[in-house]
Amino acid sequence: MNRIHNFSAGPAILPLSAIQNTQKAISNYNNLGMSIIEMSHRSKEIVAVFDEANANVLELMNLSADDYSVLFLGGGASTQFAMVPLNFLKTKANYINTGTWANKAVKEAKKVGNTNVIASSEDSNFNFIPREFTIDSDADYLHYTSNNTIFGTEFDFIPESNIPLVCDMSSDLFSREIDFSKFDLIYAGAQKNIGPSGATLVVIKKSWLNEKGNSNLMTMFDYKTHVKSDSMFNTPPVLPVYVINETLKWIKEQGGIKAIEIMNRDKANHLYEKIEGSSGFYIPAVPKKEDRSLMNVTFNLKTPELEQKFISEALKYDLSGLKGHRSVGGIRASIYNACPMLSVEALVNFMDHFLHENWS
Ligand code: PMP
Repeated sequence: MNRIHNFSAGPAILPLSAIQNTQKAISNYNNLGMSIIEMSHRSKEIVAVFDEANANVLELMNLSADDYSVLFLGGGASTQFAMVPLNFLKTKANYINTGTWANKAVKEAKKVGNTNVIASSEDSNFNFIPREFTIDSDADYLHYTSNNTIFGTEFDFIPESNIPLVCDMSSDLFSREIDFSKFDLIYAGAQKNIGPSGATLVVIKKSWLNEKGNSNLMTMFDYKTHVKSDSMFNTPPVLPVYVINETLKWIKEQGGIKAIEIMNRDKANHLYEKIEGSSGFYIPAVPKKEDRSLMNVTFNLKTPELEQKFISEALKYDLSGLKGHRSVGGIRASIYNACPMLSVEALVNFMDHFLHENWS
């Protein structure tokens, strides 16, 4: 297969091994004479896929099954914006607003109860990460978004918190080593670093759920429902979970998150250095280096017309998915785990070429 250089923000590039194994699983799963998409989610083969994916998530996070439950749910990360406050907001919630997705989470929490936005970068169009804020000690939890897919900012620290920490890691999960045990709940839509769209990963601390989880919730919106039934209360997204497991296996084969992080830092540095070294031809969208995302590298050119020309000409070199999000414009190169250095090098070479052709 002739693979293009895929810089799409999500759904996004996945490891070739995951795609090829899925192709086989769709034709004839484990030589059972049927496709994986024709099999009961309660068959022993599919339960084994879920068990393995579960174990792989915990292994990569260095967490114990005694302390944390792993769920694979439908509804996307957007459903988690509602489920988190429904399950845990009692007195007050704290949120950090660092972009479109964080803001959507805030909006849902406000519908449930008292929600205090303790820090925000909205005034400067979300181009930085707030570093100073005071957490309300009586709040039920603090929610933040570790990587802002649209604006290209990323937390390079975990907020010091004495209250439970909840994090939307949709666009940087498993991209770098962090201490996952600091969190009470982590969620991520799969369609960036861990699989295709259609499944959402939720990792939740058992003690928090059992001691503090709200009761009398609608069945499907209650985390306890899904924990009790191992993500099989209703028909789960079987094929996406299969692809997630193949992607997690690939991460382990690369040497785990530690090795992945080294590659991700190399890729991001290569791109940011090219932007910085362009004498202002390429303008970084995030001014402070420490706030820049390792996953979504955002930049501008002098005019929207020149940006459009950049995007269309890039396509001629098989460089795809570089258009910034429709709400901000500009250029965004999403360089998730499965994006190889080869693609970043092809982009950097094109940036050189484009600069020389259009310098004025
Ligand atoms: N959070 C973040 C950080 C995202 O990037 C996205 C989608 N790109 C979402 C949440 C929403 O995810 P979904 O479309 O799965 O609901």
